[in-house]
Amino acid sequence: MQHAFEHIAIIGAGESGMGAAQLAAAVGVRAFLSEYGKLSSQDKALLESWGVEYEEGGHTQERILAADGIIKSPGIKHSSPIIQAIKAAGKPLMGEVDWASRYTKAKIVAVTGSNGKTTTATLCHHIMSGEKDCVLAGNIGISLGRALAERMEQGAQDPEVVVLEVSSFQLDDALEFQPHVSILTNITPDHLDRYEYSLDNYAASKLQLLQFTRKDGHFIFCDDDPISTKWVERVQSEGNWTQNIYAFGMIGEGTPYRTVTEKNNTIEITLNNEAMTIEELALQGKHNMYNSMAAGLGSTLMNIRKETIRTKLAAFDSLEHRLESVLNISGVEYINDSKATNVNATYYALECQSKPVVWIVGGVDKGNDYSELMSLVQGKVKAIVALGVDNSKIVEAFQGTVEVVETDSMTSAVRKASRLADKGDVVLLSPCCASFDLFENYEDRGRQFKNAIRSL
Ligand code: ADP
Repeated sequence: MQHAFEHIAIIGAGESGMGAAQLAAAVGVRAFLSEYGKLSSQDKALLESWGVEYEEGGHTQERILAADGIIKSPGIKHSSPIIQAIKAAGKPLMGEVDWASRYTKAKIVAVTGSNGKTTTATLCHHIMSGEKDCVLAGNIGISLGRALAERMEQGAQDPEVVVLEVSSFQLDDALEFQPHVSILTNITPDHLDRYEYSLDNYAASKLQLLQFTRKDGHFIFCDDDPISTKWVERVQSEGNWTQNIYAFGMIGEGTPYRTVTEKNNTIEITLNNEAMTIEELALQGKHNMYNSMAAGLGSTLMNIRKETIRTKLAAFDSLEHRLESVLNISGVEYINDSKATNVNATYYALECQSKPVVWIVGGVDKGNDYSELMSLVQGKVKAIVALGVDNSKIVEAFQGTVEVVETDSMTSAVRKASRLADKGDVVLLSPCCASFDLFENYEDRGRQFKNAIRSL
């Protein structure tokens, strides 16, 4: 039985902190929110309307430790003094997802991984909503606390299913979180700065999802991914796991866990000696085949009917900033993949292009190894537009292979790309890098890209 706290403290006022405060008000739990920085006037007004006490500009330890459970925002490091003090005091410390999930009896479907979390979680929600009352929340932009509180405020019933996108930071904060179905999309180097630059630490963090999955629950991973496979096997050999483990993949025979594979662009799911095939997929590209496999299997394990899964996977609009087709101008197609902030995501974006590509790439480099993209660039890219404050690594990596031009604004990048592209080509923004040198975030970068195309 999960512990119900009567008085909580919330550290940090981001989406998760505010969501926790809103849910605390909705369920009648006394709450105190402590923000190290400044609170916006809008946040203050909301906290007051919910009857949640708050402070800003620092953390008062005594007030925080007076609570019987403490909720931290995923952005706050475990090494920060306030978190250290909470741990030293032996107080229960948890993430918002963990705490909020105590206030629903819904079955939880959790999705984590380096790439494909949002797409796979949204696909799961899209399919499962066909038959069940289903909520989508988590790292996706709406906290579970807010999603549940809004339903309670509207007098709606408890949902049957909650699909949660969870980051590794959220897993690091989990305490008693118990998903019914868990999906690990893949593990590739990203966010290593938070894990002492150790891929092992990062992978171990992702594998916590298996440890949290209910003892009678289901864990799904991609056995084409050597890092996930190595870690699942390692964790499995060390523990006494009762969870059911399944894999999806399309390379070779796969592991003994393989339940889903691909043949001639058709997905095949074989579960309990029963086979189903899914022929028509709305989302194109190899990476989306993986995402569809994971969502199809997850939905099957949630007892969604085959026909619903097939119909829903055949009708799904691509998400903004993820291989989003923007416009076709004079025979040139413009594609916005601004969310591709690492090499792996861009790898799949280039891989699925069948026309010559003018590739817009660059931004804040997170230690990228561009040699992983070299053969794709040689095979598919006709010119590169490097867009960033410092383009030197990109120039160094690809000069001599294809034409590389440099720029430091989106308007000029799009103009240059349009001049380099001929009828029948594609202009692809897939930056492989974070956006903070020239943009507020990846959404801002994607929107500026679309605006620049529309003003060509
Ligand atoms: P996340 O939520 O993990 O960041 P998204 O679904 O938002 O993942 O996709 C982020 C980027 O990664 C996009 O550029 C997308 O095209 C690419 N991508 C999506 N799914 C995968 C996958 N399974 N493997 C690799 N790249 C992917």
